[in-house]
Amino acid sequence: MATFVQKYGGTSVGSVERINAVADRVKRWHDDGHRVVVVVSAMSGETNRLEGLGYEIAGQPDPREMDVLLSSGEQASVALLAMALMQRGCKSRSYLGTQIRLQTDANHMKARIEDIETAKLDTDLDAGIVPVVAGFQGVGPNGDITTFGRGGSDTTAVAVAAALKADECQIYTDVDGVYTADPRVVPTARRLESVTFEEMFELASLGSKVLHSRSVEFVGKYGVPLRVLSSFEDGPGTLITTEDRSMEQPIVSGVTYARDEAKLTLTAVPDVPGVASRILSPIGAASIEVDMIVQNIGGDGTTDFTFTVRRADFDRAHEILLATGQELNAGSVTGDDKIAKVSAVGVGMRSHAGVATTMFDALGHEGINIQMISTSEIKISVVVEERQLENAVRVIHTAFGLDDDAVDEEVD
Ligand code: ASP
Ligand code: MG
Repeated sequence: MATFVQKYGGTSVGSVERINAVADRVKRWHDDGHRVVVVVSAMSGETNRLEGLGYEIAGQPDPREMDVLLSSGEQASVALLAMALMQRGCKSRSYLGTQIRLQTDANHMKARIEDIETAKLDTDLDAGIVPVVAGFQGVGPNGDITTFGRGGSDTTAVAVAAALKADECQIYTDVDGVYTADPRVVPTARRLESVTFEEMFELASLGSKVLHSRSVEFVGKYGVPLRVLSSFEDGPGTLITTEDRSMEQPIVSGVTYARDEAKLTLTAVPDVPGVASRILSPIGAASIEVDMIVQNIGGDGTTDFTFTVRRADFDRAHEILLATGQELNAGSVTGDDKIAKVSAVGVGMRSHAGVATTMFDALGHEGINIQMISTSEIKISVVVEERQLENAVRVIHTAFGLDDDAVDEEVD
């Protein structure tokens, strides 16, 4: 008898029909003698709808109230699924984050989980009851409802699995696993049998929407076996592993992208110590996240300082940078909010040289200009013009031999 935490995303519980299908699936696992805890998202579109209402009422809604609002989507879906299970003769009980004391820090809309009380869940499981836990929400230090950022139900599932020492955390979604690239952009993309949590973390942080990046952090920290699989068809999905198998891995496991990027440049900045901090501190103070940074020293002893931010933060960052530029007696501020980031990720990069060259060659051949580059041990990211994004993803995917037909040819 094994313990499973199964998480169903918004599309999987998007209608009464689908909730019923999820209940059938959960009941099968339960009837097979397993201990099953279910975590669900809000019905698809619901969190967007609620978020939209919040922004309509208040241009910059109060984060505490946003959490009360956004968390209500999951309150509805847990109750519906618990009812559907009971309807099938399967004992079930729904829980909100507060009810299982899913403790978080006080950061509204991006809270981090600190602790989960498992007593209620254990008691239920011992009694043959299927607990259905609301994803994406917890309770802050003073008892306020908190949420974990969009897509955060994955993190609830992995955290509950870690707390219960579950045998596997299964993320049921509308795709049948993690792919070498977004199949909508790259039709020849392949499902990965397995991917290491480090790679998955990079893929999720760099744009892949399959898993919430914070959920992947938990896999690394607590060694929770995690599987991504389809809630519509049976299949093995993709296993997120904690093993280091970099020697036997392909050089690149996946190519991912983020469209919502923007870059800003402050030219002719005096080249003296402390300048980078003077430029970025006010940006950070405005809670704007800076991603890539490039600084170039010109012949005249000044530097051009370029960095990227989320597109939604572009206007505010631009304003702040104008003010900083004046204070520093720098040159001008230029910006571009039509850029995108493409990244190749693979633990195999650790043991292979020339990976960057392969990627840059492929882009060069296609006439795609690289505007910025950043690398880490297991990833290379480039910024390109947004209109060239899809093409860039495809040529990089091909260059690293990830295309499905390339695999077929190898087999032939
Ligand atoms: N319902 C939340 C969202 O749409 C959390 C989740 O689905 O994971 O972001
Ligand atoms: Mg999701």
